[in-house]
Amino acid sequence: MSAVRHRPGIQRGVERGMRTWQFVCTCGAAGDPHYHRMLAAMDMQRHVLDLPAVPEDQRCRVPRQHRVPHWERCDLCADQIPLWLGW
Ligand SMILES: [Zn+2]
Ligand SMILES: [Zn+2]
Repeated sequence: MSAVRHRPGIQRGVERGMRTWQFVCTCGAAGDPHYHRMLAAMDMQRHVLDLPAVPEDQRCRVPRQHRVPHWERCDLCADQIPLWLGW
């Protein structure tokens, strides 16, 4: 199992007296600091879209309840034995 977790976020900073925004991810990926939050958000979006897709049957069916991002396998959902297998 891969241990790398992606928890991308936007970090605030200050550069030459100006507020900056920078995309950073827990996997080590990071974008350049930008003066516009939108640009940092675009870096984040690009990173998330680059992540390998999770096989359909391992994706979370209720991401809001399980708080699983779409690029991660959901243990709760994946381990659920479909009802029809039990019959
Ligand atoms: Zn990442
Ligand atoms: Zn789930």
